[in-house]
Amino acid sequence: MQKNKIPFNKPFIVGKELNNIAQAVQNGNLAGNGPFTEKCSKWMEEQFKAKKVLLVHSCTAALEIAAILCDIKPGDEIIVPSFTFVSTANAFVLRGAKPIFVDILPDTKNMDENKIEELITAKTKAIVPVHYAGVSCEMDKIMDIASRYNLLVVEDAAQGVCSTYKGRHLGTIGHLGCYSFHETKNFISGEGGALLINDERFIERAEIIREKGTNRSKFFQGQLDKYTWVDIGSSYVASEITAAFLCAQLEESEKITRKRHKIWNKYYKLLKPLEEKSLISIPYIPEVCYHNAHMFYIILNSFDARSKLIESLKSHGINAVFHYVPLHSSPMGKMFHDQSRLLPVTDLISKCLLRLPCFYELTMREIEFICDSIIQNIGRN
Ligand SMILES: *Cc1c(COP(=O)(O)O)cnc(C)c1O
Repeated sequence: MQKNKIPFNKPFIVGKELNNIAQAVQNGNLAGNGPFTEKCSKWMEEQFKAKKVLLVHSCTAALEIAAILCDIKPGDEIIVPSFTFVSTANAFVLRGAKPIFVDILPDTKNMDENKIEELITAKTKAIVPVHYAGVSCEMDKIMDIASRYNLLVVEDAAQGVCSTYKGRHLGTIGHLGCYSFHETKNFISGEGGALLINDERFIERAEIIREKGTNRSKFFQGQLDKYTWVDIGSSYVASEITAAFLCAQLEESEKITRKRHKIWNKYYKLLKPLEEKSLISIPYIPEVCYHNAHMFYIILNSFDARSKLIESLKSHGINAVFHYVPLHSSPMGKMFHDQSRLLPVTDLISKCLLRLPCFYELTMREIEFICDSIIQNIGRN
């Protein structure tokens, strides 16, 4: 039938990226903190209503800065879903924290806000919600728990750029928020990320940590006559070349999101009948959430059904992929997790979730082909 293979992801180039990079080269400023970095940061601050946005080289870098800002000391605990990317936990583990894994909800696949409180101890420092597939966690509840127990909230909004919760942009609700511009995300710069600082008391220190622990940023703002080592830190700045690329993408964010919604809605419509027959389940978007159509996934009825479907789609040239190995059952995660404390929803979802191709240039015909292939395979089981 279809000869061309359908990849899982294909990075989308909007068009102005190379011009911007040429311009950055002409400007003669290739390290970070040039005009493109300024433009991207200001754009995000205005667009998302963030107090301060610092461009960094990855979401992982943003999470690491956040962990330092939370003043994590060895033995401190953070509450984090097990169903997430390693960096969400690793950034804090690097500071000596013990990640305490919380189960997820079967509908949104986000941390179960009703299971957080029972995990809080005297050592808990922070809650780290992950907005899976760009759909927000129940932030009101999470912020309320954090304020009652005096905890910090670091949002891993790597997948949630341009998504909102009750009208507020993801990444701007917690004390700190982290974005990713990795090529697998909606808006890309190859590698790239941003730290959003929503609590002013963290701004000055964040700038120092991002600049290798120096007060270089103040020096460049003309507030010091020399700069020096004042704190711990690392090299977290994004290069101007990265910023130049990202700038072109952010300018087209509405167009990109509109197209992704078209793709997402098409999948939703074509696969809804399978859900109605209880053969699969499809994503649930709470009414208070506006999402960025980052991902379209389905949940199969069993691990076997998923394996069969992956193989069948592969035979049609379609690359559909599963997602996280739960952190609590990974070799590293096992060092922290008490295996007698079960996370049944995480275990089940990780075995049955399948992500379908979702990228700007995916055509409606390709989506029809993918859905036909799914319907054929599932129908036969
Ligand atoms: C992509 C992703 C990250 C890591 O982003 P990088 O920019 O590659 O460091 C972290 N957390 C989540 C939930 C992600 O999806």
